[in-house]
Amino acid sequence: MSFRARLTIIYTGFFTLALLLLGCGIYFSVRQSLYTGVQRDLWAATQQVRRIFNAGGLEPIRTPTGELRLFLRGEFIQIFNNPNLVAQIFRPNGELIDSTPNLGGRSLPIPEDALKMTSSDVSSGYRLVREVDDMRLESFITPLVIEGNQQVVGFLQISRPLRDVDRTLGTLTWILVGGGAIALLITAAGTALIAGRVLQPIDQITRTAQGIVHAEDLAQRVAVPPQQDELQRLTVTINDLLARLDSLFTAQRRFVADVSHELRTPLAAMQGNLEILDRGGLAHHDIATETVTDMRRETARLIRMVNDLLLLAQSDARVQLRSEPVELDTLLLEVFRELRLLTQGVNLRLGAEDQITVSGDRDRLKQALLNLGVNALQYTATGGYVTLSLERCGDYACLSVADSGIGIAEADLPHIFERFFRADQSRSRYSGGAGLGLSIVQRVAEAHHGHATVASIVGRGSTFAIWLPLNVPPAPTTPKSTSDLVQAGNS
Ligand code: ADP
Repeated sequence: MSFRARLTIIYTGFFTLALLLLGCGIYFSVRQSLYTGVQRDLWAATQQVRRIFNAGGLEPIRTPTGELRLFLRGEFIQIFNNPNLVAQIFRPNGELIDSTPNLGGRSLPIPEDALKMTSSDVSSGYRLVREVDDMRLESFITPLVIEGNQQVVGFLQISRPLRDVDRTLGTLTWILVGGGAIALLITAAGTALIAGRVLQPIDQITRTAQGIVHAEDLAQRVAVPPQQDELQRLTVTINDLLARLDSLFTAQRRFVADVSHELRTPLAAMQGNLEILDRGGLAHHDIATETVTDMRRETARLIRMVNDLLLLAQSDARVQLRSEPVELDTLLLEVFRELRLLTQGVNLRLGAEDQITVSGDRDRLKQALLNLGVNALQYTATGGYVTLSLERCGDYACLSVADSGIGIAEADLPHIFERFFRADQSRSRYSGGAGLGLSIVQRVAEAHHGHATVASIVGRGSTFAIWLPLNVPPAPTTPKSTSDLVQAGNS
């Protein structure tokens, strides 16, 4: 069953229930008030007839046998002349004494049970509803009591046809049932129509999404409806999702292409070297040595790249880092000493050296700092400066590497931490890097709940920084800009 049909059924079902409750409420309250009116009529008529009798219409006479009997004086009951009401006077044994003329030849005997009433039942009386000659009537019977000795000398029965009540209730029932049925039909049709209209954009979204799946084209987007409602939010969310998937797939494709490309170069070089050896290179000592040295370099490059990729894959898979106290100042000194071996004429020096201990993975932090240091030395000409510093900046420890090297173009800065990104393809050959070093720096910083930043001016130098929170894990706050630190690196 379609969602539209289900929606229509559910809505109409609830509406029917509400209508049923409302209809029953109306019917029973009207019925109640009509019957109350009938009873009020009967009670008022009873009082009226009683007043007539009390005014002298009844005469209790003691018979020769000593029995007190009720005689009507004249035609007093005829005075009571309401076309809707029938009044009857009965003897205590149920024998009819007199009745109003509008009884019309019908027989309305007093019920046996009513004859058992005593003088104390004058105000409560006896009620009954019965059907006589296809006509429903309600009767109210009260005992007639002689004032003084409390003897019941007869019964007064006032009856009222319920024709008008039945007619009113019948009409009301028709109105409620007929009106309810029409209301239900209108509701069902309206709900189906509205549900169709509301679901139409969802249908559209589904069709577009199916089109995207079939065409395998994540660049397509679902048309956003103009109204600011749930559907608009849904389409925007779907489009965001598509954009995210698109960028993820593109990144993955690029990553695979980059990895293949990066692996092909050293492998091709090694294959060439092997061919040289195969074609007699082994016989010449110089050629053999040079070829093996080349192969060793390429193998080292391959191993370095595979290690880098493994590390990135681990951080993608959120492999848990070690968490131990790391004295960053000692770490800085250690990196400084190791970098000193690679300076090749660049002036390597230590800047600020605050004493800071953070909780983290010492090896990873050292590798990140080494990556920054090696880069700085690589991209700084002989005679230039590279400064390693450690500073406390608010809630963060800031490990920075500033150089006075070639700098990075502004257009390249947003991509610098991307995998396999190299700011300048021509110079990267010289460095031999695969463009993974900075990605690792960023991942290590993020794994420590921190982040990595860069500021650079072409021709003046760059400053890379790793910001590590002092209290782990901190609420991420905007770090101090690294542009302040460029100056430090240049000086
Ligand atoms: P690579 O192994 O190629 O050095 P990285 O991820 O470490 O890879 O660096 C990416 C690119 O960023 C480098 O190719 C280089 O162009 C640029 N870069 C990194 N550090 C510096 C620096 N200190 N000065 C200038 N350019 C840099």
